[in-house]
Formats: sequence, C-alpha cells, structure tokens
Amino acid sequence: MQVYADNAATTKISKTALDAMMPCFETYYGNPSSLHTAGQLAKEQLESARERIADCLGCEPREIYFTSGGSEADNQAILSAARLGERKGKKHIISTAFEHHAVLHTLQKLEKEGFEVTYLDVREHHNITARQVQDAIRPDTCLVTVMYANNEIGSVLPIGEIGAICKAAGVPFHTDAVQAVGHLPIHVKQENIDMLSLSAHKFHGPKGVGALYCRRGLPLVNVIEGGAQERGKRAGTENLPAICGMAAALEEACAHMEENAAKVSALRDRLIAGLSQIPHSARNGDPEHCLPGIVSFCFEGIEGESLLLLLDAKGICASSGSACTSGSLDPSHVLLAIGRVHDVAHGSLRLSLCADNTQEEIDQILEAVPQVVEYLRNMSPVWRDLQTGKRQYIL
Ligand SMILES: *Cc1c(COP(=O)(O)O)cnc(C)c1O
Repeated sequence: MQVYADNAATTKISKTALDAMMPCFETYYGNPSSLHTAGQLAKEQLESARERIADCLGCEPREIYFTSGGSEADNQAILSAARLGERKGKKHIISTAFEHHAVLHTLQKLEKEGFEVTYLDVREHHNITARQVQDAIRPDTCLVTVMYANNEIGSVLPIGEIGAICKAAGVPFHTDAVQAVGHLPIHVKQENIDMLSLSAHKFHGPKGVGALYCRRGLPLVNVIEGGAQERGKRAGTENLPAICGMAAALEEACAHMEENAAKVSALRDRLIAGLSQIPHSARNGDPEHCLPGIVSFCFEGIEGESLLLLLDAKGICASSGSACTSGSLDPSHVLLAIGRVHDVAHGSLRLSLCADNTQEEIDQILEAVPQVVEYLRNMSPVWRDLQTGKRQYIL
C-alpha cells in the first residue's frame, strides 16, 4: 500500500476541484478580457471565483489578485511594501529566520539594495512571540512579513496579535499563509492582515495558481508587466481553469475545516506518540501551536536522505525538510534556525498528513520508521562512536 505523507509539499487535487475546472476548458474558454459573449461568460466565472475566495478569507473581492502561486504572491507583497517604504525613506523589514525561501530570497535581494532585515529568532518554542515583533519595530520599519504557519515543522505563529501590533504601529503586515489557508480559520480583517499569500496546491487545488490578498489602499507594484488584468497589478491572461479549481478547493476545505482538523490532528498525535518512542529523537516545532497535519522529527546518527529512500522503498512518501532543500547538502535552514546542530538537522523527517490518510497508514508508518532508523544506525560509524562513548549524544 502506498502511503502519501507529503501533503506540505503538495496535495492531490480533489474531485470537487477537478470537476470545477472542466467547464473552463470545455465551455468557458473565452478570454475574460474579450468583450464578446464568450469572453464575458469567462469573466463571470473569474469574478465568481474571486468572490468565493474573498468570502473564505473575510475580505472584499477586489482585494484578491490571482497569481501563479504562493511564491509569486510572496514576491509581489514584499517588493510592493519595500517600494512604498523606500519612497518614504523607510528601509527596515522584520521577518523570521524560518520563512520559506520565496520570502527569504526576496528579502536577500532587498538587502543587496540597502534594506536592513531583522530576522526574529525562533529557537524558543520553535516559534516567535508577538512581543519580539513589537520590540523590533523601528521608526523606519516599512514591513513585517511573518509566515502564518511553518511548512517544515508546523509551528503556527501568533498572527492575530502581530496584526494588532502592526496596525497600532502603522506598519504594513504581510503573512505567507500558504500552509494555513484551507487548514486553519483565517479572517484577514479580524487579524489585521494587510497582505496574505496563498497557494491552491496546498489545499487540494491545482498547481501553478495562487492569490495575493492586498488590503484596499495599499499600493501593489507589478512583478509581471503587460496587460491590464487584475486591476493592472498582474498581467497575463488569467488561468481560469486553475482559478476555478482553486475557488472550489478552498470552499470545500473551509466547509470541512473543523472535521478535517479533528481527524488529521488525531492521526498526527498518534504518529507523534509512536515516533517519540524512538531513542535519541526529538520532535521539531511548537508543540502547543501547531498545524493539524505536520509532524517533524530529528533522529540522531542517521541521514535524512537515506531514511527517505528506504521509506519510499516501503511505500511511504515523506520528506526531509522542504522539497526545495532536498538535493542540496546543506541541512534545512528551518532546522538550523530552531537551534538544531548540523549533524542532528541532517537526520530529519517530515510527515505531512491530510484527511485522506487513515489509521492503517499511520500504523504502517509507525512500523517502518523505527525499523529503518535502526537499520541505518547499525550501519553508521557515527552511531558506533555514540554508543562506545567516543562521541557524545546530543539528543
Ligand atoms: C509551498 C509554499 C510556498 C510556495 O508556494 P508555490 O505555490 O509552490 O509557489 C510558499 N510558502 C510556503 C510556506 C509554502 O509552503
């Protein structure tokens, strides 16, 4: 039996989302910018999708801008706030050390341009506090960009509190909510979020489509130049099938959010209880504030890559850190940021669940992981040194 436990990397598209896409290929194939009937019918579908997504987030439809995914939304949000800040002589940004690369690499680009970025420490509780944001705000701060939930370790950040602080300080607040949308209840107005990034393929929608929520009155700069689509802020003929699939997937995720979260977190807790039995292991992530579906562990004395390959051979699809880091020799920046040393960070495993996973699958994982960990440890010279006392255990 194949067990798919890598839902934080991407999810399987739902039947509902797929069904919502088909009419856009077969019937609503007009260009929403065309004035003829075929175009206007497509335009109706586009605006209906926008309204339904806005409803799920608690904002107005005109505050939703469709993008090619979470990465583009992150880029556009951050660059927009930076350009606005620059005009006012403000070039300081606050973020965290464990953001997704779509955020971190955009910030690094701005640092080369002379922006200063404060990366909040995430070692305590594998999370940040609103107080840390409060203390980091300066008169020249032009943006706070803090993820809603971490994609590698599942920590859920205190977004509502941070929103209130940013609002009081008059600092624009962006959140990369790619792992949270469709999984946690979000209301952008109540949480004082000015900009929010989301991506359909993380909640059983299609890949290559996402959205940026941007509060009315906050100016966006274009990342893609061209036609006047998306109120002139994002050029290119709209990917209507994907957008309609995203709207259907989000509505479905929001309609079943509570029951899904209850089911998935019960599976998660079972998994955590089982994996915690493995000696010299440690769970990563904030144990109190965490996503329903993400479980991350470090096992001392093994290589995460070998672990993944052996689990795959047993039919289990998992991940070691983020998909973007695999294939590189550097351990995950997230695990280093929470304070794991290199050797320990290398032995990481992320299992990310969804409501399609079953108890039997969890049992299959709990049978396989301890076996594979033991097998790898028995072959490892590092493990031998730990056992003979030549080297000290860290975990
Ligand atoms: C997946 C992910 C992204 C990137 O989204 P894409 O749609 O794949 O570009 C950004 N941030 C987080 C937290 C993610 O998990």
